[in-house]
Amino acid sequence: MIYLDNNATTPLHPAVLAEMEPFLTSSFGNPSAGYKLGKEARKAVDQARQRVAELLGARPEEVIFTSCGTESINTAIHSGLELFPSQKRILTTTVEHSATEKTCQYWESQGYTVTRLEVDSQGGLDVDAYAKALGEGGIALVSIIWANNETGVIFQVPDLARMAAEAGILFHTDAVQAVGKIPIHLQETPIHMLSLSGHKLHAPKGIGALVVNREIRFRPFIFGGGQENERRSGTENVTGIVGLGKAAELARQDFEERTRNVRFLRDRFEAALLEALPGTEINGHPEHRLANTSNLHFPGVDGEALLVMLDERGIACSPGSACSSGAGHPSLVLQAMGFAKERAKRSIRVSLSRFTTEAEIDQAVAAFTECVKRFQSVRPSSAGPVRQG
Ligand code: PLP
Repeated sequence: MIYLDNNATTPLHPAVLAEMEPFLTSSFGNPSAGYKLGKEARKAVDQARQRVAELLGARPEEVIFTSCGTESINTAIHSGLELFPSQKRILTTTVEHSATEKTCQYWESQGYTVTRLEVDSQGGLDVDAYAKALGEGGIALVSIIWANNETGVIFQVPDLARMAAEAGILFHTDAVQAVGKIPIHLQETPIHMLSLSGHKLHAPKGIGALVVNREIRFRPFIFGGGQENERRSGTENVTGIVGLGKAAELARQDFEERTRNVRFLRDRFEAALLEALPGTEINGHPEHRLANTSNLHFPGVDGEALLVMLDERGIACSPGSACSSGAGHPSLVLQAMGFAKERAKRSIRVSLSRFTTEAEIDQAVAAFTECVKRFQSVRPSSAGPVRQG
């Protein structure tokens, strides 16, 4: 199989698995226990915290382990709203992951106002509109995605965070797709909270982290045994934490070379398809995007039918967000960029990883070319079902 859906999830790195293995078997202690087995687990958790902090240029005590990116995002927003109960507004964008968007919808149902900043046709944010919204007052928290999961478009989050800090407003970023893919130096930017997820960087599913600047107050979301320095109760997922720590260490190594290689393969893929299939377009800013992500529009091709055809040829990619794939909803992110539903339905996301090879990309190009040509050679009415609405 040629796996090209790494923004949905990534395969476990063998070195991550090797480091996790003892904690699944012999070293099963509870990190809160005082005897040797417990201390062994505590030491491993501390080491992982250190490694995650190093990847982000943060301090170890700022890292709170959670169960996933979604939990981190929910926690960050909850904390911000609890800290500023008289501020009844959340400032976010129209291109957030559902973990943010659905959380905002919940808080809207509780009487909050959510201001969603729009993006342009390349997925970029209007910084003047952001500045204006910041000045309108009543904001408890800003929550903005760093790198878009569907298009890979990168927002200038350090600048946005600086502007929020200057306005005295709490700033959270969903960095689930950014961590490990772009350089992050939290000590150099006033990002108050950052959410990340292990399974996007070759750690297992079910582990995430919320990084909270130590100068910022915080209100927990989950209460209980007081783990994570009273900030996230529940017995630690030691195996997952160890895996995330190792993945963070690996993400720092060869960062430049790895990113260059992934970009080279992504660009090769795009260039070959743009040449072979006239009319193909890239969704998202051509440069301000993650090196691993390609979101392509193939005119006249039903995206879902194309995915099935590619799957039959052993190629796994997706229509956009993993959470909406299979649901038949055209991408809301592409629609937020001003594209019609029709274009959203004719677009496909391909996302590479450190494990993607040149041979795989060349095979993928051949398969895409063959499949897309087949669709485009038949009349639109027989190009597969196009759902309305
Ligand atoms: N935010 C973004 C940008 C994502 O891509 C995802 C996962 O697809 C999430 C949040 C949610 O992360 P998790 O799957 O760990 O809950």
